[in-house]
Amino acid sequence: MKHRLENLMSWLQAQDIEAAFLTSTPNVFYLTGFQCDPHERLLGLFVFQEKEPILICPKMEEGQARSAGWGYEIIGYSDTDSPWTLVSESIKARGINVRTIAVEKEHLNVERYENLVALFPSASFAAAEAKLHELRLVKDEKELAILRQAAHMADWAVELGVSQIAEGKSEMEILGTIEYELKKKGISKMSFDTMVLTGANSALPHGEPGTNRIQRGDFVLFDLGVVIDGYCSDITRTVAFWDVSEEQKHIYDTVLAAQLKAIEASKPGAAIDTVDRAARSYIENAGYGEYFPHRLGHGLGISVHEYPSLTDANTSPLRTGMVFTIEPGVYVPNVGGVRIEDDIYVTENGVEILTKYPKELQIIK
Ligand code: MN
Ligand code: MN
Repeated sequence: MKHRLENLMSWLQAQDIEAAFLTSTPNVFYLTGFQCDPHERLLGLFVFQEKEPILICPKMEEGQARSAGWGYEIIGYSDTDSPWTLVSESIKARGINVRTIAVEKEHLNVERYENLVALFPSASFAAAEAKLHELRLVKDEKELAILRQAAHMADWAVELGVSQIAEGKSEMEILGTIEYELKKKGISKMSFDTMVLTGANSALPHGEPGTNRIQRGDFVLFDLGVVIDGYCSDITRTVAFWDVSEEQKHIYDTVLAAQLKAIEASKPGAAIDTVDRAARSYIENAGYGEYFPHRLGHGLGISVHEYPSLTDANTSPLRTGMVFTIEPGVYVPNVGGVRIEDDIYVTENGVEILTKYPKELQIIK
């Protein structure tokens, strides 16, 4: 954590920005080790060029911030305190003159913005996002170890889901079993709302699980992830129930081959657009281009969607230490959808695939 804060402080010095004020749970967690869901209450972290940082959080959370290892100042406020009065006193006591302040422009709300303006009337605002994205882009060994565990648990959850498939069972029934069994293993949080989609519903890239029942000839798609120690996994597997048509088999083979092409193209230095295109052009050549309507994948870490974004417009190179998903999909209305998603870590000279559940077409009977 100290190294991360120091990195941000050097950036503030280099940019001639006197302070950063960060308010999103993921960025505050990244810099402090303290994970807090403050609901509507204020969570904030002031970082300065040289002076020690200040964490602002509800008083009832102070103990958790300390046990997470935060050793600098905390401004804890009760539900009847005005946090901004306390912040103002603390900033004034430090004699900090702020001409420019970096904030998460995409996250800071207007009420907090107005309080910052009142605190630093002549300050201009800079965006902190790009720097935080860059810091979080490359994972260290400790983060990687947690991401490996999260991926392993996602594999386990898919295996369990597949074992639950039976004629007439509903999507929600299987979903409930997966999450119940994960909870028994101590997983308190999923990375996002679990998807179990069967038949026509699998052909919707962001379908909503419901009471649809599994029928012979359906594709059943699982997309899920777990949070372990603040880090997310994200896996998708699609299996067939009872039998598959020639077209379904063709769709499956196309998506799998495209996914393998993109993994093969992934290595340090490879331009991200070429990785996206490795999968996309394969799918286009198979005649399904219009049925692959989304990017190839997304960075993965504290947030389930972070940087890099794997699109065919991103010419940045892959770097050792990046973790992201590769998840091509083909969704043909009334026939069914297939998506295959793995979590990928870029090593010194290639990749390590963190999710390991098998990918060859399974026909469940
Ligand atoms: Mn994903
Ligand atoms: Mn997913």
